[in-house]
This record gives sequence, structure tokens and C-alpha cells, in this order.
Amino acid sequence: MADSSETPTLENGQSFSFKAETKQLLNILIHSLYKDKEVFLRELLSNASDALNRLRFELLTNQAVLDPEAEMCIHISVDKEAGKITIRDTGIGMTREEMIENLGTIAQSGARKFLDAAKDQKGDFAQVIGQFGVGFYSVFMVADWVKVTSRSFQPEAEAALWFALGEDNFQIGPAQKAERGTIIEIKLKDDLTEFANEFRIKEIIRKHSDYIGFPIYVGDEQEQVNKQTAIWRTARQNVTEEQYKDLYRQLTLDFEEPLFHSHLITDAPVQMYALLYIPGKSERGVFSLRKDDGLKLYSKNILIDEYSKDLLPEYLRFIQGVVDSEDLPLNVSRETIQATGMMTRLKKVLTGQVLKELETLSKNDAEKYQAFWQEFGGFLKQGVATSQSETEKIYPFLRFKTNLHPETWSSLDDYVGRMPTGQKGIYFIIGDDPKSVLRSPHLDYFQAQGTEVLLLTEPIDSFMLMGLHKFKDFELKNVAQSDDTIPEKPENEKEETEKIPAADFDTLIERFKQILGEDVVDVRGSSRLSQSVARLVDPEGSLNPEMQRVYKYLGKDFEVSKKILELNPSHPILKNLLALDSQSELQRLVIEQIYESALLVEGLHPDPSRMVPRVQEIIQAALGKN
Ligand code: ADP
Ligand code: MG
Repeated sequence: MADSSETPTLENGQSFSFKAETKQLLNILIHSLYKDKEVFLRELLSNASDALNRLRFELLTNQAVLDPEAEMCIHISVDKEAGKITIRDTGIGMTREEMIENLGTIAQSGARKFLDAAKDQKGDFAQVIGQFGVGFYSVFMVADWVKVTSRSFQPEAEAALWFALGEDNFQIGPAQKAERGTIIEIKLKDDLTEFANEFRIKEIIRKHSDYIGFPIYVGDEQEQVNKQTAIWRTARQNVTEEQYKDLYRQLTLDFEEPLFHSHLITDAPVQMYALLYIPGKSERGVFSLRKDDGLKLYSKNILIDEYSKDLLPEYLRFIQGVVDSEDLPLNVSRETIQATGMMTRLKKVLTGQVLKELETLSKNDAEKYQAFWQEFGGFLKQGVATSQSETEKIYPFLRFKTNLHPETWSSLDDYVGRMPTGQKGIYFIIGDDPKSVLRSPHLDYFQAQGTEVLLLTEPIDSFMLMGLHKFKDFELKNVAQSDDTIPEKPENEKEETEKIPAADFDTLIERFKQILGEDVVDVRGSSRLSQSVARLVDPEGSLNPEMQRVYKYLGKDFEVSKKILELNPSHPILKNLLALDSQSELQRLVIEQIYESALLVEGLHPDPSRMVPRVQEIIQAALGKN
């Protein structure tokens, strides 16, 4: 603790206790071993900048503020001898009540979250303290005491003083301050007086706060230290990769590097600076600073919307970044901005830009595109399902696994390029996972012909199909339904498998009908099966399988329609089944099992474990025979 002779004491002060969580947080920070203590300055400057931004915003509609003419800026001075730093801003200021609220009693949830997160996080966690909404307290990493004097922009408000010595309590009292804004005085800990040094302060500003949109003056000479230009307003060739990554981190506090960034500066049809990022992961991290989708929108360098959702179509909502336009009217009301049609124009340019970049990426860096697809493919599929007029624009970006190329991602163009002449459509199969779908009886015929089939195994795929009926000249067709004949392999390449004679096959079909009764609509033969004994298909006129899935996912009350069981007349199991005594118990068991196995591969079996006793009986019979 500082020696008491220089510790200010407050007359007429009133003492308040910090909230429990804040106390704990302060305790950790005061005794912290965090190396990056310099970030305290970034946090205080960020608050000063916020305060200035809020004032500028206020000035758009309200001229009745204290000192309307005062320069909007930040001053820093240091007193080497006394080990003190003073930061002054001409921002919005705080009233007495606001100081009590903002600097002591609220943001407990942020303190709690920081404490929880800091426990499990190695390294200099103080780096990210700002994202928890408790950045101010980081000053206690370096301070013996902190004094805040503030005067609100409201002309009739009185100046007030906030003072804290440590983790337990703070005091509030009246103050003399003629000008609008906030002064923060910091008495540094004895071993940290290195910060009471202009040179050091300038270094920290250039490192962490260069982009702050208001001049920061340092020292007696009052030299402006920060360049003040946001990097999105800087020509591309003057921005380093490191700066791009830095901005992304400042913006999102995502620990993961962005997958990709795109920096756009245009003059026509609209003036705009944009810096857009594709995050590394689709999930927003627990610590993410971005609490919502949307881009940060500035107009003439003034933040007018923290989360603007009007700048990109919904299916690109995973994109992070900043848009800044000189052409936007400086108006607080979103409706007015909308009405100018400017937003529509911005959106058009931005969407075009993102799609163009994605196209280039897919052509030039397949690996990165694949990483992108794996994280964000679902968004694009959703776009196909819901964006109506735009769906076709998204088609080229879709990627699929197929039965012939199950390990790699193919585009629809790849598929079409590989199609043999004469193939009429693009075939797909829907299933629950990429492995089991390959065993589906619906694939039999296509596998046998060597025909390529898209494997759609994610819930979103069924939705996507609502907006994807046709690509170029080719209709998309479900193999479970498709009746087209694909050019058959030449006769001589066909494996000769003998079919069960028609009359016998009819008898077998009757047996199936008898045993399955109401469970199926019909039983019939199919020429579409080769490896599988049987499959289930929908009767004519029922809802197509992809829509059935959509209903299922939406939790709509909806009975799966009864199916037709199709049998493979060449399958050895059926031949053997025919050889069994027509009244035998074993024949009944096998028929039931064939049906239920077909239900299982369709993902329709209500209770698979129910099959176990029957399977045991069948095994028993097979063993008994030997
Ligand atoms: P955050 O900036 O995330 O809100 P902080 O702990 O950094 O959290 O700051 C807490 C609050 O204190 C701010 O939201 C703001 O209301 C107030 N505040 C801090 N510094 C200033 C300042 N220089 N001028 C006006 N208000 C300030
Ligand atoms: Mg802050």
C-alpha cells in the first residue's frame, strides 16, 4: 500500500462496498502475476474512446451538452517522481450515480464469468479482460489507488469523485471540475513505476490503441501519438497480415485465427470501406466478444450499429467485420437509414464481394475452402432452403460426398462433369449417416451401374432440397423414388443371376403379404435390387422422402406413411426361403426379420432391440440344422 501521507482522503465522502464478485476479481488482479499488465492502459483508453463515441452520438441530436465546442480527445500525462499517470477525456462523463453503478456495483456477472474462465485458462488471461465488461478494473493490476473525477455532459449535472484504495470498498464524493468528461488518476505500485514514463506510454498506445478514433495526446508537448486511422480505411498495401489478425481479435476476442479476410474499398456505386472475416470456427467461443450476428457499421467513422444485420443475407451471418461508409446519412434512426436505399446497395456490393472471394478461394485453395465448407456449409445449405431468389447463386458453393467419392468433397459441377452421357439427372440418397447410407438397398442399382449418387446425411440436407430441384439442365432425383432407367450396363457385363421363376415368386409374395398384413401397403418384386434382399419404398402420391424428413425434424405431427416392400427375385435368401415348408415357423420369422431389417436401414424402426429375440431364434434354427 502507498504511504498514507500521499493517499488522498475524501471529505464528505460516502463509502460503498464492492460487490462480492468484484472483490474477488480485484483481489486476483491486485495480487496478479499477469505479465501483460500494460493492457490496463488499453482498457482505460478504450473506455475513454467509448465515452467520446457516445458523446459524438449524442451530439447528432442534442446540442444541449456541456462544452459543445471542446475538442473530443484524450490527454495523458505522467509524473515520474510521484509515480502517477493521469488520463483525461472529454467524453460523455458520468454523474455520481453513474459512477456508483458503473464502477462498483454492476457488471458482477462479468466479474463472475472472468473468474470462472480465468481458472481454467493458462497464460495471460488479463489480455482479454475487456470482453467481460470489467476492463476498468484491470487498472488494479498496476495501481495502489485510483481516483476518477467526472462531469457528465448534461449541463446541470455536478462533478463527482470516485476513489478506491483496494478490493474492499470505494468512496464517492463531490468534486470540482468545470469541463465535461472524465479524469482518471492512477498511483502506480512501487515496483511498477516504469509506466510513469512517456516513452513507455507511447509504446503501449502504438501497440494496443493506435486505431482509436480520437487523438491521444501524451506528455507536456501534447504530441498526438495514435495514428487514428482505422485499418479498414487504410490502403490494403499498407496493412500487414498481423494488423488484420489483430483487428479480428480486438473485434471478436476469438482465440482462433480467422480463416480468411477480405478488405474492400470502393467508391462506386457506393463509397465504402469494409473489412470482413470468416472466423476459424462456426461456433462462437464462450469468450467471444460478439454476442450477436451482424457487422459493425460505421458512418463517417462513427459507430452507428454494433450488430447490423442488414448488410449481408442471413446465410452469410457468420461473417464478422466492419463496414464504414461516407455515403450513409448520419442519422440515429435505423428506419431513416433504411429508407435511403443505401443499405440495399451496400448489401448488394458486400454480398457480391463475399461470394466472389469464396469463388476465388474454392479455385485457388481447395484445402482452405474445404475447411470453410466443413465449418460453414450448413449456413449455405440453409441459404439454399430459405433465400428463394438467391438460391441459384449459392449452388456453385455447395459440396457433397458421393458413393463414388465418399472421402472427398465434390461440387455439383464436379458431379455433372463426371456424368456419363445419357444420364438424365443428378441422383441423391438421404440417410442418417455417411456409412450406413452406403449400405442402403436404394443404392444397389446405382452401385451396380457405377452411377454416382450424392450422399445427403445431414438434417439440413432435406431442407436444402426444398430450394434445389435442378442444377443446370439436370433435375435432382431421390434414388429411393426415381423410376428413370439409367443407361444400363451392356448385357455382357451383367452378372448372370438366376431369378426365382415367376410362379414361385408370386407364392412367396403371397406369403409375405399374409405374414406382414397391415404393416405394409403392398409387396412386390423389384429389378432395382442386387445386393439387398428387400427395400421399402413409398406408394405413389405420398409425400416425398425428403419432405417426410423435413416434417420429422420440424417435429410436426406426422405419421410415416405405410410403405411398399420390394423383394429382390434373384436373392439367394429368398430362394432358400422358398425351399422351406410354407407353414414353418422359421419362414415366418425370416419374413418378419426381412421386413424389420428394411425398416432399420430406412431409419424407421421404432424399437430395434425388439428384433433381438427373433434374431436369436433364427440363429438357433441355423445352428440346429448343423
Ligand atoms: P465496459 O467498457 O465493457 O462497459 P469497463 O469495466 O471497462 O466495462 O467500464 C465500465 C463502465 O464504466 C463503462 O461501461 C462506462 O459506463 C463507465 N466508464 C468507464 N470509463 C469511463 C470514461 N472514461 N467515461 C465515461 N464512462 C466511463
Ligand atoms: Mg471497457
